[in-house]
Amino acid sequence: MAIASSSASAQIQKLVDATYEKYKDVDDGAVATYIPELSKANPDHFGICLATVGGEVFTAGDWEQEFTIQSISKAFAFQMALEERGREEVAKHVGVEPSGDAFNAIELEATTMRPFNPMINAGAIAVSSLIKKGSPEEGVRGFVKRMEKAAGRPLRIDESVYMSESQTGNRNRAIAYLMLNCGIIDAEVDHTLHQYFSQCSLLVNTKDLAMMTATLANLGVNPVTKTRVFDFQFIKDVLTVMFTCGLYDYAGEWAYRVGLPAKSGVGGGIISVVNRQLGLAVYSPKLDARGNSVRGILACKELASHLGLHAFEFTNVGSSFIEWLI
Ligand code: GLU
Repeated sequence: MAIASSSASAQIQKLVDATYEKYKDVDDGAVATYIPELSKANPDHFGICLATVGGEVFTAGDWEQEFTIQSISKAFAFQMALEERGREEVAKHVGVEPSGDAFNAIELEATTMRPFNPMINAGAIAVSSLIKKGSPEEGVRGFVKRMEKAAGRPLRIDESVYMSESQTGNRNRAIAYLMLNCGIIDAEVDHTLHQYFSQCSLLVNTKDLAMMTATLANLGVNPVTKTRVFDFQFIKDVLTVMFTCGLYDYAGEWAYRVGLPAKSGVGGGIISVVNRQLGLAVYSPKLDARGNSVRGILACKELASHLGLHAFEFTNVGSSFIEWLI
């Protein structure tokens, strides 16, 4: 894809800036506190980044501020599980149905006993069990390395968030033991939870998330470094599940109003993918009752509507506004 003309770039930057200005004073929601370390986030922080598959990057606000990726890691871990274990094997351990329930619900499918999907905690823990390696360090290193390639820069785990979540994560422990009881995960429960908590504790900034998301949009190749990061044949699986399950029990409403594959995390991040076009990321730590970033949702809605990004947008007959611009 061609690099955006300078006037098109200026137009997109203007829209990103205007979106930031429009919502920067919204004060609704509350920072997550159930993982004690997350409560230290500055509630004022608000960053936006849009990265195109042509390598153009547009930022506004606190896009350099680091925070933990939390549940956004679930999309990338699912991609890794599909690559490493294949569709059939992964499908034995996790389904693809929206649960309609909260992200941390303690429930499994009635007949298969699988977690509903890989975007909720139960499914993501099952996925972590599949991608863990011989030693806890090796499995976490493998995940971090892949995320570094997707972001295009070195990344690290926030050890304080990891400790905080590991010490208080008894609900996730309960989910894991339920899945052990049902034969969905193996007996290495602590090892699996170490992998899961570590994945959630990866530190990223808004631009990292946008680059990782643009890498998904760009058939698995980082648009700036040109490195192949993900096997493209599984990206459609990941985007489909993000589309139907990425926003927890707001997923249907999100698909209706924004119409993009997306994933949110309780750290305050949210990503949206426009397949073959761009990655969008927003960070704002104040969450609504369902655990989704309040300003994150508003900013994504705004940008998706202005740029005509909804998957079923009537103007989107093979091209959206942004494709037309660049
Ligand atoms: N680490 C968090 C948990 O397991 C992730 C939840 C989220 O971001 O939605 O509770």
